[in-house]
Amino acid sequence: MKGLCILGATGSIGVSTLDVVSRHPDQYNVIALTANTNIAALYEQCIAHRPEYVVVVNAAQAEQFEANIQNSEISTIKVLTGAKSLEFVSTLEQVDSVMAAIVGAAGLLSSLAAAKAGKTVLLANKEALVMSGDIFMQAVRDSGATLLPIDSEHNAIFQCMPSGYTAGDEAKQVRRILLTASGGPFRETPVETLHEVTVAQAVAHPKWDMGRKISVDSATMMNKGLELIEACLLFNLAPEDVQVVIHKQSIIHSMVDYVDGSVLAQMGNPDMRVPIAHAMAWPDRFESGVEPLNIFDVRQLDFAEPSLSRFPCLKLAYQAIEAGGIMPTVLNAANEVAVDEFLNERVKFTDIPLIIEQCMARFSAGNADSLEKILQTDEQARVVSHEIIGNMIA
Ligand code: NAD
Ligand code: MG
Repeated sequence: MKGLCILGATGSIGVSTLDVVSRHPDQYNVIALTANTNIAALYEQCIAHRPEYVVVVNAAQAEQFEANIQNSEISTIKVLTGAKSLEFVSTLEQVDSVMAAIVGAAGLLSSLAAAKAGKTVLLANKEALVMSGDIFMQAVRDSGATLLPIDSEHNAIFQCMPSGYTAGDEAKQVRRILLTASGGPFRETPVETLHEVTVAQAVAHPKWDMGRKISVDSATMMNKGLELIEACLLFNLAPEDVQVVIHKQSIIHSMVDYVDGSVLAQMGNPDMRVPIAHAMAWPDRFESGVEPLNIFDVRQLDFAEPSLSRFPCLKLAYQAIEAGGIMPTVLNAANEVAVDEFLNERVKFTDIPLIIEQCMARFSAGNADSLEKILQTDEQARVVSHEIIGNMIA
């Protein structure tokens, strides 16, 4: 039995993870579940999975949750609150595996704590890796943690890597990676109409059912930009070794091109339970609950090069990784602020890349040599992004 902590249990990835867990009660024991505010969903999860601990980051909601479980069948669950408690549960001795599925920079410290504690880290929270880069990868190496990618593309690449491959190692005999992208809901929308895009349109992804932030990132293709940086870190590659490929059917989840001309692809229905089950059972396999792929229904697979003028966010991600240092941290923070303000209907869809570009112009890459520097940069870039937005809507 492995002890599991799910950071971000109430989100899209968290819910899919618990679905997989419920199919394998003999293999995983849920030790801790965390949520920010959604205590109604968390309550139901606690009834079903009986964790020892829950963390409700929001203090008022934690108090309410505590009151709700009094005299109930789950009254013995220990309820913690505050961001620090996320680090506490992700490093508990009885926890073997940590599903890092908080969205955004809010997940950095708890994911990093799990890495430092030598846990098996199932990494969905790509922003944590993008913003902390080498510091995160070094923490994994130093502690001997096992890092398994959950992002479907990175999980696909990991599956296509030579057997025995460890995340962060040099990818020997690999010529390049083909990182696939669906192209999101606006793959073919006339560029001159993109400024009219509504929140409802942007979060309606054609192939994947995901949280709101990553759905907007998919629509701008910043998601692929973050994934490009994530791939370079996880697989020890230069950006020029990663080719982004628009593949609208989302059946191939990425490919590895070897020096002998072999190209290995991982395919499957677009359902996050596939990469989640892969990482949870690794190095073995078990059932995920996902329908088998019917290739006769798929019929056709298309591939195209992405347009950087249609998707300026992807171009900004290339610029950030090429500049190096703290620039990916700035890119990520500015994107989080811009997307949040788009979701609040304070800025337009097409303002998102403008905000990020202006924010990046206010920083120099320098070195990202300490966690303090990363956290400070993240904070400063958020302040600058809010300033830019303030001027924009004034
Ligand atoms: P989501 O919005 O559905 O869920 C986010 C989770 O994080 C929730 O449990 C929420 O309570 C928690 N959370 C939010 N803000 C928090 C805060 N300040 N402190 C503590 N907890 C907080 O998001 P999601 O779609 O499940 O995505 C989670 C992560 O996984 C993201 O980094 C995303 O990029 C990545 N990812 C998601 C998918 C997908 O299919 N959903 C695919 C690949 C990667
Ligand atoms: Mg992905």
